[in-house]
Amino acid sequence: MNSEVKPRVLIISAPSGAGKSTLVNHLLASGLPLQFSVSATSRKPRGGEKDGHEYYFISAVEFRKRVDAGEFIEWEEVYKDHFYGTLRSEIDRITEAGKMPLFDVDVKGGISLKNIFGDNALAIFIMPPSVEELKQRLIRRGTDQEDKIAMRVDKAYKEIELAGRFDMVIVNDDLTRACNEILTVVSGFLNDR
Ligand code: ADP
Ligand code: 5GP
Repeated sequence: MNSEVKPRVLIISAPSGAGKSTLVNHLLASGLPLQFSVSATSRKPRGGEKDGHEYYFISAVEFRKRVDAGEFIEWEEVYKDHFYGTLRSEIDRITEAGKMPLFDVDVKGGISLKNIFGDNALAIFIMPPSVEELKQRLIRRGTDQEDKIAMRVDKAYKEIELAGRFDMVIVNDDLTRACNEILTVVSGFLNDR
């Protein structure tokens, strides 16, 4: 990305289990001129994930090389030994296609991107109704072992303390209501200017 020019972008972060993927998928299916920024990660693909779709799946060695080459605008070790980073090339690809990049990143990454893009970013924090409900959703989702769920719940307490660093907080209590609210605010941001 050209460091002088800051495109307008959408940042969405949440503690794991709050419903971020559900709301991001809703936005992407809405027909708004948004495009998902595909991050690079050193974690292995899960289930039906395809390279270049959910993520660019690369080795930890390759990830480190790309960090050194300055290819990431931000990156984090989101979980132990699992690296995730936003590629500058994704921002160029999406803006050149006339779309607004949508970043689905962890809470720390969301704050870093907000600091970089400033007023050109709308940073949304998806808040669960409670940490207990977040835990129940992770259990019902059935994708994580008990110890992983405990780790995510632990992390959620710290992440919730950072919600004030975002432009807005959307509480994902009733899903239909939360979907409508996010669609309204994102449409407003896209139409602004
Ligand atoms: P995240 O991407 O934040 O980890 P997901 O979108 O995977 O979260 O949601 C976690 C689980 O909770 C999923 O099984 C999802 O279907 C469910 N879920 C999402 N939003 C709600 C909601 N408002 N009420 C109840 N369950 C929800
Ligand atoms: P998962 O492994 O479940 O796909 O993602 C784990 C977490 O990493 C999610 O919170 C997701 O938003 C976050 N994530 C995905 N890509 C990036 C990225 O490029 N940068 C940062 N900081 N976090 C990311």
